[in-house]
Parts: sequence; structure tokens; C-alpha cells
Amino acid sequence: MTDIKSMTIEELKTLMTELGDKPFRAKQIYSWLHEHLVTSYDEMTNLPKGLREKLKAYPITALETADVQISEIDGTRKYLFRLSDGNVIESVLMGYKHGNSVCISSQAGCRMGCRFCASTIGGLTRNLLASEMLDQIYRIQAQTGERVSNVVVMGTGEPLDNYDNFLRFVHILTEDGGLHISQRNVTVSTCGLVPRMNDLAEEKLQITLALSLHAPNDIKRQELMPIARKYSMDEVLQACRNYFEKTGRRITFEYSLVAGVNDTDEDAEELAGRIRGINCHVNLIPVNPIKERSFARSTRQAVENFKIKLEKCGINVTIRREMGSDIDGACGQLRKSYLEKTESEK
Ligand code: SAH
Repeated sequence: MTDIKSMTIEELKTLMTELGDKPFRAKQIYSWLHEHLVTSYDEMTNLPKGLREKLKAYPITALETADVQISEIDGTRKYLFRLSDGNVIESVLMGYKHGNSVCISSQAGCRMGCRFCASTIGGLTRNLLASEMLDQIYRIQAQTGERVSNVVVMGTGEPLDNYDNFLRFVHILTEDGGLHISQRNVTVSTCGLVPRMNDLAEEKLQITLALSLHAPNDIKRQELMPIARKYSMDEVLQACRNYFEKTGRRITFEYSLVAGVNDTDEDAEELAGRIRGINCHVNLIPVNPIKERSFARSTRQAVENFKIKLEKCGINVTIRREMGSDIDGACGQLRKSYLEKTESEK
């Protein structure tokens, strides 16, 4: 580990010893990086000059803002960030009554192949480092001057496919000495990597686990999500029950409604039957159509009917408010249109 912004305080202490300096410097450096959000050693004014010079051998990860789009409807901001190797990723800032929420990416691209998702079309480019996940939040907070209170890992990428970096990210984000965001205000969304979901349950974190379910049975789920061929719905739902048992955290099920595919009364009833008894909440969202695929969003009426049907079966359900609908569409589309543009300019 040489990426200084991905280091825990303990690791920084070891580094200080290796550099022949005092361990207490670790806390100072950590605070500059994760609390004051500085991007250069020269800003770390309480460090001796000699140490600052030595530290320059450890470049500080700082994302460059390549583009920001601001919604005229609700003020949602969509950021396109450039990584040090030239890759781009996107993040979103949404303002709610209860605070500011940032949606971050966990990978550049994705290899999960969900049929309705724009982020996976070009495949996986690479995993993001913990520092690159953190810095999406840091740069947004620094640029807007507004405190970020909630973080959702629902942007591009499958966070549990980048498990170690993701865990490191959660610890640095939520522990003392950094932004110290409450774990209860962090949500991670997964397409359902069962072994990793079980590993996460053992970590005994207080973060919310959201499962992208999107279907009431294996056959329909397999049509939408290749991962469903690897893990059955029974296995995925069992992993959700286990997560609740180990952490006491209620599960969120994400359900994107696709017209004529998963949005009928029968689908709602079958879904209710499958998730009954799990301490959960269902989030409904009409699918965001992407031009590469022919999926159509469910009508407003179909979404409403689906909700009522689930409620009648005793399931907690909300229709997710769509934010920033004027500044692109589904996840991954800003990054994708940027990549297409730069590709065509070559
Ligand atoms: N890989 C993780 C997190 C990223 S996707 C996961 O699969 O959960 C975040 C959420 O957006 C997931 O529920 C995903 O299924 C959903 N999603 C992706 N593309 C979408 C689209 N075009 N319309 C609606 N929801 C979409």
C-alpha cells in the first residue's frame, strides 16, 4: 500500500516509523487528508518542511473535475471526475430535506452485464482505490462548501466486486478523524454477489445493504441480470436474511420496473410471496431507458398499481423520487456519452 489517501491511521503510523519520523504525525496527516480535505503536502502547515518533502514521494490522490451538470428542476449535480490515469467516473449530489446525499462509483466500468444498465456496456476498466471512492465525496464537499451527510454506493460498478477497497473506504469514511459519516447513513447496493454479501454480514457494520432484485423469480431475473445464473434467488434472499440477522439492519430491495417484463399484478404478488418475512423495504423506480437496449419504462399507472399491490401484501414500499431527470438518464450515461464524444474526436 503506497496510496497515502487509502491508508488507515495505523498504516500511516507504520509509514512514519519507516520514514524515521514520529508516529503522532500520522494523525495530523490523516486529519489534513480526510477532515480538511487538502490536496497537497504544502497545505499541511503543522508538518516540518523536511517531512513534507519526504512525503512528496507519495502522491495524494485528487480527482479532477472534468464536467458538472446542474439540474434546473431540483438542483441535483452530476459530476464527471478524471482519475490520474485518464479514466473518468461519475458521481451525483442530491439535496434532500434531511441532508445532502452523494452517489459514488466503485469501479470504472462494470463486468456484471445487467441488461438495462449503461455502466456495463463497455465492460470493466478497473477497480477504484479507496481514495478514489473517498475523493468523489471530498471534492464535492470542498467545491460546494456543503456538508455531505449520506453516501450511497450506487453509481457505476459493483462495489462487492471491489470488496477490499470498498471495505477500506467504509472504514475511512465512517471512523473518527475523517468526515465521520454515520454508518447508518451509508448504503451499498449490490447485484447480489452472495459470498461477498455473507462476508459483509460478518463485518458487523451498520451500513444499509440494498439488493438489486428487479424480478419476482429466477427466470425473469436471469433475463435481466446475468449474475442470476450464478446465484439463485433463494440463495440471494437467504444472504439478505443473514445480513439482517448479523447486523440488525433492514434490507432495501431495488426494483426497476420494465414495461411488460416485471411490472404486472402477478409479478407483484409473486414478489411479495418471495420476500414476505424478510425485514425489508422495496424501492420502486421505472427503468431509465438506454438507447442501446429496447427496454421501456413502466407507465406511472403501472408503477402505482405495483406499489398498491405490494402494500396490500403487507410489504413496505416507496416509489423512488427521480432526481436530475433533465441532466441525463440512468446511471453511467454521463460517463458513457463523454467516452463516446472523446472517442469520436480521436
Ligand atoms: N452494481 C450495483 C450498484 C450500481 S447500480 C448494483 O447492481 O446494485 C445501482 C442501481 O441502479 C441498481 O439497482 C441497478 O440495477 C440500477 N440501474 C442500473 N441501470 C438502470 C436503469 N437504466 N434504470 C433503472 N435502474 C437502473
